[in-house]
Amino acid sequence: MSIILSIIYLIATVTFVFGLKMLGHPETAKKGNLISAVGMVIAIIGTIFFHDFEVPLINYLLIGSALLVGTIIGWLIAVKVEMTKMPELVSLFNGFGGGSALLIGLVEFGKNVGVEDSMKLSSSIITTILAAIIIGSITFTGSLIAWAKLNGSMNDIRLPKYNLINNVFFLGLIVFGTYIVMQGADSFVLIYLLLFAALAYGVLFVIPIGGADMPVVISLLNSLTGIAAAITGILYGNMVMLVGGILVGSAGLILTFVMCNAMNRSLSNVIFGAFGGDSATGAVSAGKTGGTIKKTTASDSAILLNYANKVVIVPGYGLAVAQAQHIIHELELLLIKKGVDVSYAIHPVAGRMPGHMNVLLAESKVDYDKLIEMDDINPQFPNTDVVLVVGANDVVNPAAHNDPSSPIYGMPILDVENARHIIVNKRSMNAGYAGIENELFFNQKTSMLFGDAKSALTELVSELRNM
Ligand code: NDP
Repeated sequence: MSIILSIIYLIATVTFVFGLKMLGHPETAKKGNLISAVGMVIAIIGTIFFHDFEVPLINYLLIGSALLVGTIIGWLIAVKVEMTKMPELVSLFNGFGGGSALLIGLVEFGKNVGVEDSMKLSSSIITTILAAIIIGSITFTGSLIAWAKLNGSMNDIRLPKYNLINNVFFLGLIVFGTYIVMQGADSFVLIYLLLFAALAYGVLFVIPIGGADMPVVISLLNSLTGIAAAITGILYGNMVMLVGGILVGSAGLILTFVMCNAMNRSLSNVIFGAFGGDSATGAVSAGKTGGTIKKTTASDSAILLNYANKVVIVPGYGLAVAQAQHIIHELELLLIKKGVDVSYAIHPVAGRMPGHMNVLLAESKVDYDKLIEMDDINPQFPNTDVVLVVGANDVVNPAAHNDPSSPIYGMPILDVENARHIIVNKRSMNAGYAGIENELFFNQKTSMLFGDAKSALTELVSELRNM
């Protein structure tokens, strides 16, 4: 490798590390993303123009066209995508990452077929190639299934004894791969059989998992894509691919565990369990709570908010789907103008992926200092006059503390029931992600403001303006 390319790779690697660090805070995240993206562009340009082997001109044209088409498609998708569809997009991108790794593996494997013994690749390189093919294939089909589930075009399918079938299938893949290495890796038939088996495993792995658990699975698949990229980096002795892959792999794994912890569930429970799988129906499971609810109107809610000293807003998934982030900011500014102390309580998995609420509220220019994490806001609820819950459900369900038989028992929640008054805005009494009833709605301090978040908040803002 030329010295110039080594320096370029070093610069790119540094941008990845710094970019990733900057993604850790909403204020620096955008810049961090940009810095890493510039690093990636530098690495790509460096690889194309400073490599040390002969390449025919036609290859430059092909690479140039692929870059152009890919950039245009990527740009169009990124500009158009709605915030609520972000997990789907991440899933699709993951899938393409896995697909690239499997194609690289296949090309490299081809170099070993039908060549003289002296030209054969070592078993360790063949093992690396097979790992790229297997992991890349699983990530490719698994991510496509995850994407289809998230956009609602596919339901969960659970074959009888699916856990056993999947584990045996996976073991079979490893045994088959080992056989190919021992056999000398000289057969296209065998490698294509392994490829199709790995693609099938990706489907089998993801189809039984509950649709609502897809963000965790996507994060896991994302981490696998990183590992596949790191493996291809080893294959080419390419440091920047290796470091980039390791960063994606480890970051994805950390995010996976952060999500599991925030839901108080183990990774195996997400993969092998069925929690949340039926939530797409929106039906409320047999409620233990019952009782009566108190309905309220926009004008009564406006009075309550107008005379409060301290208001905490709890944004949830419903706020995201209703695209009510701008109107909630307007409400916040209006209350601040009236001398009310307003902040937002952010649950780590509010919405459908970690950071969902931060990004959404940042989009409408809510001050970062107003976003308070769960552990910091919980002690403040007893001193809060009004909590306004907008489109959130599970993350404020006291059953997590009170009901050991609840599927969310033990999940850390926002303790909004400790506030003096609670206003909950949602469209109906339907359940949220976990498909369970919420006793908060029956609390004497709670008033239900029914309606779509955007229209209910618009009405609330207009009532407040008239006061
Ligand atoms: P929930 O899904 O619990 O509740 C959202 C609520 O929003 C629903 O009850 C719904 O009620 C209401 N809603 C939907 N659309 C609208 C609308 N247009 N206007 C007003 N309200 C609306 O969301 P939370 O944010 O409270 O909790 C997130 C959940 O997702 C947690 O359980 C968390 O564990 C889970 N999660 C799971 C992840 C995973 O990977 N498995 C990752 C991240 C989060 P209604 O239909 O009556 O309007």
